[in-house]
Amino acid sequence: MGKSEQLPDGWSAAPRETLRAANAGPIAAYDPSSTPGYSGDKETGTAALAARGELLADLQEMLFANGRSGDHRSVLLVIQGMDTAGKGGIVRHVGGLCDPQGLRIKGFGPPTKEELAHDFLWRIHRELPPAGRIGIFDRSHYEDVLPVRVHNLVPESVWSQRYDAINQFEREVADAGTTIVKVALVVSKEEQKQRLSDRLDDPNKHWKYNPSDVDERGHWDDYLEAYQAIFDRTDTPHAPWYVLGADRKWFSRLAVCELLIDALDGLDLGWPKATFDVEKEKARVAAL
Ligand code: AMP
Ligand code: MG
Repeated sequence: MGKSEQLPDGWSAAPRETLRAANAGPIAAYDPSSTPGYSGDKETGTAALAARGELLADLQEMLFANGRSGDHRSVLLVIQGMDTAGKGGIVRHVGGLCDPQGLRIKGFGPPTKEELAHDFLWRIHRELPPAGRIGIFDRSHYEDVLPVRVHNLVPESVWSQRYDAINQFEREVADAGTTIVKVALVVSKEEQKQRLSDRLDDPNKHWKYNPSDVDERGHWDDYLEAYQAIFDRTDTPHAPWYVLGADRKWFSRLAVCELLIDALDGLDLGWPKATFDVEKEKARVAAL
């Protein structure tokens, strides 16, 4: 756990362990309202997010400062999840705790004609976080083994090769100095129905409603199978998957905050040393 071996308040085990996909069991049997390892409720969890957000912001600033001083490292948060699982909320409520200058946020929609003319990882490569930044992907290369697999948008002979390609790609990204954190937000079918209906009931949320989400919902079990294949084949030490119940938004947000803190902590960052003579500069400023 990097520098601080202490568990955050309310946690009985490190989120990095308890939320790891390998420990989540079969995804089809996962309880999306569970808060594994965390004993707090909505009120304490929401307060914890605000408090821990200050540490996250400090660590992020330190990463940025080091990036300015020649450290090439970065962090990449990959967010996946079914429609309405709260991907945008993670960007807003966890990314929002950081300095926007230090973030590189990218949402991936259906590939453009140009993107389709390239390998599926081409558009991903171009959005990787530069030195000192935290990259956030709202959807990612995993879409190429999710809707693409469920609807056979390319033949099985093509999508089935992508797991190995992804592992190799992520290996290269990690070796180049990017700490990868992948989170899958798992929402229950009932909660999704509620959220879709809330979107319809509120004209201010109609822009978020997409009629095709209802069609996708019809392939629920196929999606679960596609997620299971992802966890089975791409949960690696250099690019771990975490499964987060998303029926309680406060929990998934707090969990992502802790996972990012842990990732940044693991970089063992310090504040960059001055590249000038501090005493001399103090004397100069005093003399102004
Ligand atoms: P949203 O996140 O609500 O803006 O929706 C983005 C849409 O893009 C979703 O329906 C995704 O499934 C779709 N999408 C993203 N990447 C891909 C991809 N590689 N192939 C097919 N559909 C994709
Ligand atoms: Mg959507």
